[in-house]
Amino acid sequence: AIQLRGVGKSFGAHKVLTGIDLDIGRGERVCIIGPSGSGKSTLLRCMVFLETYDEGEIHVEGRLLGYSVEGGVRKRDADVQVAAVRRNVGMVFQQFNLWPHMTALGNVGAALRVVKGLPRAEVDRISREALATVGLAHKADDYPQRLSGGQQQRVAIARALAMSPSILLFDEPTSALDPELVGEVLEVMRKLAGQGMTMVVVTHEMGFAAEVADRVIFMDGGRIIEQGPPSRLFSNPQSPRLAQFLDTWR
Ligand code: ATP
Ligand code: MG
Repeated sequence: AIQLRGVGKSFGAHKVLTGIDLDIGRGERVCIIGPSGSGKSTLLRCMVFLETYDEGEIHVEGRLLGYSVEGGVRKRDADVQVAAVRRNVGMVFQQFNLWPHMTALGNVGAALRVVKGLPRAEVDRISREALATVGLAHKADDYPQRLSGGQQQRVAIARALAMSPSILLFDEPTSALDPELVGEVLEVMRKLAGQGMTMVVVTHEMGFAAEVADRVIFMDGGRIIEQGPPSRLFSNPQSPRLAQFLDTWR
């Protein structure tokens, strides 16, 4: 579903991603872990071209992301490719970024109206279905300020789901939540994983990664240091840096 080859990215003189090779298959659940500043968010943002990348190639569902190639020459072609990719790839952030002046239903349907231009009845039907998937059918008419953080994040997940993405990317979706609200969001994510959704999840929830991930990727200093099934990675880390990182979570 997503392929990265030799992807590199700098902010000015600061190289934050180096030589990233990564294949994410359809239906695969991948968790990305690593210390703060290791490039996890930047990597995820590059996958939807919220950040440009300077080196290598990213293909999403077979399309070269953000560029086109004519006669062997690569040129920036953000508009066409990026719009197509963004329709396919949903993203859920640490901060839910709901519109305060719209109900839960309105938030979930906004992109369906604006991006897909669907008629009102169709938008509402799809939005209600997405809210039901995250267990919030009964909150459709509530405004975000009346919802708990966990509920707001579930609305944000419904908003991503409503676009029928083939891939969902999550960037620390539970990090902004009070501990007692983390479980309900992880529960929704578990359910999506169970339904075969392709998911890439940056997370500090090692229990979730151990349970749900087919593969865990450990990043440090802008590189993939180690990857493998969680059973192997967590019990038998090969690199000292991963061993040390895991120690801080025990
Ligand atoms: P965290 O766990 O704290 O979220 P992260 O692994 O997601 O960290 P990134 O946010 O990807 O790390 O940041 C990687 C590096 O890139 C950091 O050194 C960060 O300061 C730098 N960086 C990120 N965004 C920008 C930006 N817009 N401009 C300049 N530097 C940036
Ligand atoms: Mg981050």
